Amino acid sequence: MFDSLTTSASWTVIAFALIVFPTLFFITAPYGRHFRPGWGPSLGARLGWLVMEAPSFFLFGALWLSHPQLGQPLVTALGIAWLVHYGQRTFVYTATMKENGRRKPLLTIVMAVVFNVLNSYGNATQLSERPLDLAFFAGLGLFALGFAMNVHSDAVLRSLRAPGEGGYKIPHGGLHRFVASPNYFGEIVEWLGFALAAQSLAGWAFFFFTCANLVPRARSNRDWYRAQFPDYPASRRAVIPFLW
Ligand code: NDP
Repeated sequence: MFDSLTTSASWTVIAFALIVFPTLFFITAPYGRHFRPGWGPSLGARLGWLVMEAPSFFLFGALWLSHPQLGQPLVTALGIAWLVHYGQRTFVYTATMKENGRRKPLLTIVMAVVFNVLNSYGNATQLSERPLDLAFFAGLGLFALGFAMNVHSDAVLRSLRAPGEGGYKIPHGGLHRFVASPNYFGEIVEWLGFALAAQSLAGWAFFFFTCANLVPRARSNRDWYRAQFPDYPASRRAVIPFLW
């Protein structure tokens, strides 16, 4: 029963990815720079992000703390990695973001909460101890690298706005020199690392979904920059440096 429930959660995440990937090439998710009216009621962006990401911290945290193998190296290390990422995203990112009146449609928040519940449940319950191998260490290294790229790229974006400012500028510095959405690139590298280290269906499902969600959005972001800024560097790719 337990096994089939956690496996179903992961297959549902994979099914979401298969739907989301083609859809997002035609309909850009209506938040941030792509926010537009016609998507129903909305919340302030800060509150929206907090509500959306909280299940990934609290639900995963509760399941991890009651994990029968907690204390063994792999389960402990990957649980900490997950909670560092989602602790940062839920509390630090939301506290420091320059919201300045930006809204987030309730619809996108509800969809993200459903996704995060399934994803956190699958990933916490499928963490399973095995001898520490090359995949574990390489995966953990990739996760740390991706986290650093994600947090740094978001910090560069945050620094573009003075207090009270809400507009957009061309970002420079770090991986912003190479791609329009280096924060997404960092995110993709993180979850690739997690999947490699965890070797679970849930880990690979989340990596697959992250790519399906962020690759089309990165292309929309790059096209948006090109349309907004005539001097936007033509060499910048969407999300994968030098490739795409
Ligand atoms: P964006 O890059 O669109 O925005 C990040 C923040 O920077 C927002 O506050 C945004 O403001 C601001 N910003 C962006 N570009 C500029 C600019 N040119 N000038 C000034 N400010 C700017 O990222 P998202 O909002 O889509 O995502 C936020 C975080 O969540 C990222 O780290 C991302 O990796 C992660 N994420 C992960 C997903 C997953 O599937 N795992 C899914 C979605 C996001 P504003 O909101 O006003 O546009």
